[in-house]
Amino acid sequence: MLRQVFGGDFGRSMAALGLPVGLLLICYPVLMHLDQGSWALRTVAPYLTYAVFAAALILALWFHCSRAVFVLLLLALGHWMAVALLPGGADQGVNGRVVYAAYSVLLPINVVAFSIFRERGLLSERGFARLAVVGLQVGIVAAVAVGDYWLDAASTKAVQGFLAEALRFRLLPHEYDSWTPLPQPAVLLFAVALIFLIIRALWRGATPLAGGFAGALVAAFLALHLVGKGHGATVFFAAAGLAMIFALIQESYRMAFLDELTGLPGRRALLTELDRLGGRYTLTMLDVDHFKKFNDTYGHDVGDQVLRMVATRMMMVTGGGKAFRYGGEEFTVVFPNKNKEDAYRHLEALRKAIQASSFTLRDKDRPEEKPSKVTKKGKAGGKKVSVTVSMGVGEPDEERATPVDVMKLADEALYRAKEGGRNRISA
Ligand code: GH3
Ligand code: MG
Ligand code: MG
Repeated sequence: MLRQVFGGDFGRSMAALGLPVGLLLICYPVLMHLDQGSWALRTVAPYLTYAVFAAALILALWFHCSRAVFVLLLLALGHWMAVALLPGGADQGVNGRVVYAAYSVLLPINVVAFSIFRERGLLSERGFARLAVVGLQVGIVAAVAVGDYWLDAASTKAVQGFLAEALRFRLLPHEYDSWTPLPQPAVLLFAVALIFLIIRALWRGATPLAGGFAGALVAAFLALHLVGKGHGATVFFAAAGLAMIFALIQESYRMAFLDELTGLPGRRALLTELDRLGGRYTLTMLDVDHFKKFNDTYGHDVGDQVLRMVATRMMMVTGGGKAFRYGGEEFTVVFPNKNKEDAYRHLEALRKAIQASSFTLRDKDRPEEKPSKVTKKGKAGGKKVSVTVSMGVGEPDEERATPVDVMKLADEALYRAKEGGRNRISA
């Protein structure tokens, strides 16, 4: 059950979340050094943080990741606020009472929103709408902060007082926020936002970007908490920017090497893996049985779901096997440093696991007619369908020594498995 929840993505989820956490851990020693460091170092530090944001922004634009662009702009704005407006701390005048409080409340809301939003081009209609909403928030806060310029003194005081009061509205007793300059609603929103991102990541598989958002959120919280205290805000906003850089790099790896439909490494990753193999290994070609019939009967969408299910089982293959999507409904399993005999046991377990995982069709997927070759078990509610696979196994010998040769061997073996009646392994 747990395995099903986490799927094969668990390792990747941990990498997505773990990197930012590791990053935060090294921030404290950096902070200590910086606060005691030379004048030159301390003067340069804020600019280094802007450099981190600039690099992250370039990556985000390069990868067409508009959601990251927005979050990065907001983080950079927060750093500017901390350094330029609040050098003396979060309790300084109207900047502290209004701007700081508003930023702290709005940031987690915006990060969660951008984590939910679908990716849309910056220059698309949706992109402009998002820009307008973010700009509106900034505009309103700025307008209230500089009220003196366009309102009389009494109105300015009233509006600022009202907003400051509203942003520090307390749901819980004072003790719950007395340890931090952040307003209580902001503390609660940061906590809710982080829990939301983690649960969503466990539920739907963590994308690198979600990990980056979660890491940036925690780092921004610490930065805001440390505003005015040495270089706390500068160091932790830089950490937020770095978490985003890591996430964007991981995201680009994912785009290049992982198959979009199944999440398995794709053909390019397989070729890289084949280059790294030594003298002893086993290659397996796996093909879904009667998949065309499945597609024809239930539709392409159900076919895709079947491929995802098969891929999920393949991610859990034992014995150190690495699974790849070769293309279409064909997959490859590589066992480095294992011969055919040793790999067989693990492949047989995989074959049985796939056969055992029956697949429940949702009502709208139900076919009008019954397929002839796909096995069905009636069940109240959804209809259960089972899927089988055939495999061909190959290992290098004197004649066929290169991975490409062994791949051909495995392909020929797969053909024999199909000829022999399917749902079996041939070597
Ligand atoms: P066999 O047991 O001999 O392997 O029969 P088969 O029907 O599985 O074999 P065949 O290779 O003829 O059919 C493969 C089909 O897989 C053809 C294509 O429509 C389908 N297919 C390939 N890629 C995808 C995909 O990404 N999604 C879906 N839904 N179908 C795909
Ligand atoms: Mg095929
Ligand atoms: Mg097939």
